[in-house]
Amino acid sequence: MEAGIIKKLDETVVNRIAAGEVVQRPANALKEMIENSLDAKSSQIQVTVKQGGLKLLQIQDNGTGIRKEDLDIVCERFTTSKLREFGDLTSISTYGFRGEALASISHVAHLTITTRTSDSKCAWKASYVDGKLTGTAKPCAGNQGTQITVEDLFYNIATRRKALKSAAEEHAKVTEVVSRYAVHNHRVGFTLKKQGDNATDIRTPPNSTAVDNIRTIYSPSVARELLEFTCEDTNLKFSVKGYISNANYSVKKCIFLLFINHRLVDSTALRKAIEAVYASYLPKNSHPFLYLSLEIDPQNVDVNVHPTKHEVHFLHEDSIIEKIQQAVESKLLGCNSSRTFYTQALLPGANAVPGVSSKSNDNGGSSAAPEKKDKIYAHQMVRTDPRDQKLEKFLTKPTETKTPEDNEVDQEEKQAKCNPEDQNRREIKLTSVLSLRSQVENGCHTGLRETVKNMTFVGSVNPEYALIQHVNKLYLTNTLALSEELFYQILLNDFGNFGILKLSSPASIYELAMIALDLEESGWTEADGTKEDLSSYISSLLQSKAPMLDDYFSIQIDDNGKICTLPYLLDDYVPAMEGLPMYMLRLATEVEWDTELDCFQTLCRETAKFYAIQRNQASEEEDGEQGWQWKVEHLVYPAIRKMLLPPQHFAQDTTFLQIANLTELYRVFERC
Ligand code: ADP
Ligand code: MG
Repeated sequence: MEAGIIKKLDETVVNRIAAGEVVQRPANALKEMIENSLDAKSSQIQVTVKQGGLKLLQIQDNGTGIRKEDLDIVCERFTTSKLREFGDLTSISTYGFRGEALASISHVAHLTITTRTSDSKCAWKASYVDGKLTGTAKPCAGNQGTQITVEDLFYNIATRRKALKSAAEEHAKVTEVVSRYAVHNHRVGFTLKKQGDNATDIRTPPNSTAVDNIRTIYSPSVARELLEFTCEDTNLKFSVKGYISNANYSVKKCIFLLFINHRLVDSTALRKAIEAVYASYLPKNSHPFLYLSLEIDPQNVDVNVHPTKHEVHFLHEDSIIEKIQQAVESKLLGCNSSRTFYTQALLPGANAVPGVSSKSNDNGGSSAAPEKKDKIYAHQMVRTDPRDQKLEKFLTKPTETKTPEDNEVDQEEKQAKCNPEDQNRREIKLTSVLSLRSQVENGCHTGLRETVKNMTFVGSVNPEYALIQHVNKLYLTNTLALSEELFYQILLNDFGNFGILKLSSPASIYELAMIALDLEESGWTEADGTKEDLSSYISSLLQSKAPMLDDYFSIQIDDNGKICTLPYLLDDYVPAMEGLPMYMLRLATEVEWDTELDCFQTLCRETAKFYAIQRNQASEEEDGEQGWQWKVEHLVYPAIRKMLLPPQHFAQDTTFLQIANLTELYRVFERC
């Protein structure tokens, strides 16, 4: 592309543009300069700063450069090569259009431009004061492209200087601007460094991808949990592309990279709308990562706002925001139907949950998806009946908290991983299972639910006991009882929909039963018959139940009486395999096989006992398996916090033992 020819804007255009000072802080000036470099088709942009850009803000690009003839007027107000008539304003595709960025900067700082176009034999260097070239442009050596140096910002405006935050804060803001443009313009390589430092704060290669740049700049953990997001509407003339974090990921403060027609902007209305959707999916006080590129018919964007206003408005704003909000909800649901299903199953009357309309329940088996227009999204739900709530209401609350601006990302809870198979979840209509689920729901102790929902895990004492904190009370909790109940509830809720845990080699049920009968725990006596006879009986009994065990519990038993798989109940969680022999024995002896409800209840209970944390569980990592400490802290308690409905008896027995009231010691145990 050739360097644009710079013309003075027509007077009327000048007057119609509500103009003002562009520069309020280094990051504003930088944003304008990055956009100029992008307009000039650069593929490499290097930013160097000193004292957060207050002392020095320099940007070097390899774009078209500025023609020498234009260096005289480039810093005059309303000088631009990008717009000639007012009509252009509505179809403008380049970022700048006001021709006032450089002019404004030259009024508040020492500005020097070194630039070379492709057809020039050398580079030219020019300095400016108050929009005017000082002296003449001087020839010098240089590569094609433009280097703009801004020094001593606000040297001549004491009040502005005082209004500015610290150099560190300005640097953070500059970093944010470079990071965001680097993600959005991933084909362009960006670097950011402090003057004098060899190391770069940010470095992205040219021709990268948005996700790769998010990984490099933000964190690998967020890059792993991104969902690709698209949404468009021809009537409203907009389209959105981008990436949003799924429900397994959260940050303390919402990170929202928003570009409208490729310009970095803020839209509080859009952010709030999207955050309202996430509030139903994320733990309390945690927020998503969002990168959205919104393209709107240029005629509908209010381009004529003051350039310092990052907050934008556009035509049909409410309708567009609503569409985007719905698309976000669908995207999150798509990856999370297991949790939704759980909700629906546990809470009778919650038939407004998407995908489970009362209509489809009456259809008796037909799994016709409800019409799109029937969908009611969580954020639109109004509570009219106390029973009519989503489980998420118990789990999360959209609370706004102020946390210091930081890009530090932490991965909160890992379970309920996005699994495409979730889409094919079958609906379980067995009355027995439904009524077992409602027993759990009706038996839930609301006070304890509140406690576990908001608890902070302090640490494990041993496999059996852990300490948790809730508000200023410290409790000793029984991890064995809690984890057993957790798995019992998971077994009911995901009934018939488990993933598979494959045993590295199938194990003979007969052999397992022989091992179990040798254990004191089995209570075997000679009166029970020989161990061999019993083991054969156990093996053939379980084999006769194989189709059901496979279908509902993902327990596969082959024709040789070997057990091949177990249900996958919680992401990354593998039960302690030492318990497998007793589990087989108890399946044969403790399960009430004859009536459906009792059978499922006892089967779920025995399975939960096997999956629960065990009193004498190995603490070392073995065979690549994590030790109990890790499982308890990172898998079990997060899942308890998220989904356990504690039964009434937990309030009477010793599952939760209050051991201290920490009004004074509160801070000692406070985490995060
Ligand atoms: P605008 O971008 O609105 O046109 P600016 O004040 O930002 O106004 O820039 C004035 C002009 O200077 C631009 O129109 C462009 O021709 C030229 N210019 C500024 N920066 C660069 C750059 N990095 N490379 C090439 N040309 C530039
Ligand atoms: Mg510009």
